Amino acid sequence: MQNVLFYVILAVLGLVLGSFLNVVICRLPRKESLAFPASHCASCGHKLSPVDLIPVISWSFLRGKCRYCGEKISLRYPLIELLTAALFVLTATRAGNRWELVISLVTVLFLIPIAAIDFQHYIIPNKILLTLLPVAVASAVLQIVSPEQVSLFYDGAGAFRPLLGAVAASGILFLIALLGYYLNGRDEVMGMGDIKLLVLLGALCGAKKILLVLLCAVLLAGAASIVMLVTRKKGRKDKIAFGPYIILSFYVIVYWL
Ligand SMILES: [Zn+2]
Repeated sequence: MQNVLFYVILAVLGLVLGSFLNVVICRLPRKESLAFPASHCASCGHKLSPVDLIPVISWSFLRGKCRYCGEKISLRYPLIELLTAALFVLTATRAGNRWELVISLVTVLFLIPIAAIDFQHYIIPNKILLTLLPVAVASAVLQIVSPEQVSLFYDGAGAFRPLLGAVAASGILFLIALLGYYLNGRDEVMGMGDIKLLVLLGALCGAKKILLVLLCAVLLAGAASIVMLVTRKKGRKDKIAFGPYIILSFYVIVYWL
C-alpha cells in the first residue's frame, strides 16, 4: 500500500524502538526505571556512548563483546531489534488503513517484550498488559466504526466480534483450567498472565481468530515441549512459558489467514 521509502523508514524506526524494547525486557522484570540510569554494560556497568547504541550495527562491529570489559553481549539484543523491524515492515504490508496500521504497530511494541520476558522469567508483567488494554479497546472501536477498512483484525462478521473474541477466549480458558484441575488436580496449566494476554488478544482480533490462535499455540507449545524433553533441555517437571507461543500463533494466524 506504500512506497519503498515508507518501508525503509518503518524498518529504521523498528530497529530504534527495538533497541528501547531491549531496555524494557532487561529492566522491567527487575522493577528498575526505564529511563535512569542511562544504558550501561550489564557486566562492567560502564556507561555506553552513542556509538555503542546503534541498533544491530554496534553489536556486529564489536562482534558481540563489550568495548570496555570484553564481556559477551547477548545475541538477544540485535535479534530483538531485527525482529521489531521485520514485524513493523510486515505489519505495514498487511494493515488495511492507517488507523489499523498505528494500532498494529503499537501492538508489536507490547507483544515483543511480553514474549521475551515470559520466555526468560515465566511472568507476564501486569504493567505491560494494562498498557496494552487501551490498544485492544482502540482496535475494538475501529472494528465497530469502520469495519470495511479494517483487514488485519476484523473477520467481517458483525460489529461485536471484538467483544465476542474476549468472551470466547475467556470461556475456552475457563474450560482448559477446569480440565487441568480434573486431570492434574491443580489449576496451573496456564498462568494468569497467559489468560489475561489471550483475553486482550481476543478483543484485538475477534472470536474466530483467537480460537485458532489458542489452538495453534497449544500445538506449538506441545511440539516444543516434546522436542525439549527428547533433547533433555527440560525435564518433565520444568515449566515452559506459554506466552511466546501465544504471540507467535497470534502473528501466524492474524497475518496469514
Ligand atoms: Zn562491559
